[in-house]
Amino acid sequence: MAGRKFFVGGNFKMNGSIKMIKEIIEQINNAKLDDNTEVIVAPPALYLLKVQETLSAPAQVSAQNCFTETSGAYTGEISPSQLKDADVHWVILGHSERRALFGEADKVVADKVRAAIKAGLGVIACVGEKLEERENGTTEEVVQRQLEAIAKEIDEDKWKDVVIAYEPVWAIGTGKVATVEQAQETHAGIRKWLAKTISDKVAQETRIIYGGSVNGKNCRELAKSEDIDGFLVGGASLKPEFIDICKSGS
Ligand code: PEP
Repeated sequence: MAGRKFFVGGNFKMNGSIKMIKEIIEQINNAKLDDNTEVIVAPPALYLLKVQETLSAPAQVSAQNCFTETSGAYTGEISPSQLKDADVHWVILGHSERRALFGEADKVVADKVRAAIKAGLGVIACVGEKLEERENGTTEEVVQRQLEAIAKEIDEDKWKDVVIAYEPVWAIGTGKVATVEQAQETHAGIRKWLAKTISDKVAQETRIIYGGSVNGKNCRELAKSEDIDGFLVGGASLKPEFIDICKSGS
């Protein structure tokens, strides 16, 4: 981890109800989280304000998406400045489900990252290859293409507001976790790319977290890897084992 603060995000996706989310937030509030780990939880947009009001520090709330524009005729969208106004300081962008199901191309994701950072939000920027891309050996190429789109939109000093989530698409929600070696290799490749393309400082300071079927059982082994600075967790973030994942960096 080399001085980088461990970071765990829980992405509830389109799951939960008022009752269920209240229970999860109570569990997190009672968990005595380590101040040396940054924990964010991303409920569906409908529940953001409630979670923002009830979640205790050090955990913070995050949106799962936002739009590029500040305000206007964009039915169904939420702007980065509205999130900021509601004291929601984080947003997940470029999740593979947004890319695959809602047609978000690299440039759209990158524009959203730029807009979110401009509004003062922290961004969890997701990248990752599909199964056929891993199998045909283009993982690095795909991930770099996704990162390059973001790099074109933000200045070097803005990378401090970005956490990169490496999420191989074939490992998301499938129960098929990347091996420690696969994850470490890709994370190290991303860090090398940051050093070459942005700067050594950004490469050393940027958190690169892993996502894809992380659970209470496999998190500790993954967390030991030099370049894995935390996790983005889907399914397991709705279960009590999320607390174990949050504590796996210490
Ligand atoms: C995710 O949605 O970002 C994710 C990693 O999901 P899961 O942990 O369920 O694979």
